[in-house]
Amino acid sequence: MFLESFRHLIEIEALKEQNLKNSLQIASENKRISDLEERRKKLLLQNENLKIDEKNLKLSESQNKIDDLQIRLNKLNSQLSLSVTEKEQIAFENQIKIIKEEIEKLENLYFENLEASETILNQIKENNEFVNGSVTTLEEIKKEVAANIIVEENHIKNRDVRINSLLELCHPGFKTYYNELDKKFRPKSLPVSYLIGKNCSACHMSVDSALKSSIDEGRSFESCPNCSRLLIPETAKIY
Ligand SMILES: [Zn+2]
Repeated sequence: MFLESFRHLIEIEALKEQNLKNSLQIASENKRISDLEERRKKLLLQNENLKIDEKNLKLSESQNKIDDLQIRLNKLNSQLSLSVTEKEQIAFENQIKIIKEEIEKLENLYFENLEASETILNQIKENNEFVNGSVTTLEEIKKEVAANIIVEENHIKNRDVRINSLLELCHPGFKTYYNELDKKFRPKSLPVSYLIGKNCSACHMSVDSALKSSIDEGRSFESCPNCSRLLIPETAKIY
């Protein structure tokens, strides 16, 4: 009574397995877009942070400080040349020495930061080049992906037509039962298993002889007592 239904179910499951491959292909096509979009977004965000880092180097502020000290140094130098007493002279010379040291320290820092700034600005430039350059690539990928997805979706659509017509050929009670299990198990797992010998192919639980012969002969359809998958007799594969 149910042998036909079992055979249809085997074909249905095979078609669904092929559909799954197409769905995975669609997902990986979409990932091509999202990966590139993600990378562009990441680089733009990185640029925002790099700009802040560059600003924090405070290059112009250091430059101004050095300029101010230079002015003070020049002034002290002229004061030194006008100094009359030795005491005055020593005092100016001490101040000059301190300022010179300060200038040297600031200049070292300035050049260190200048180098860091150049590295940052180069990175920003490189990131921008990628972001701008990938606009066309992204558009091309989107077109390609859209075309590939249509192909995959058509495969699925055609198989779904076949799946539905096979389901219509199944015994009504069988079909309802299978649909319920399908909702319960998929996509994490399969709603059916094979009865191989006396064992469920999914969980390996064994069934009693009466149940086995009833399933094998197609007199009834049953779930595995353990995992509750619909048991398909292995012999139904042969037809
Ligand atoms: Zn089982």
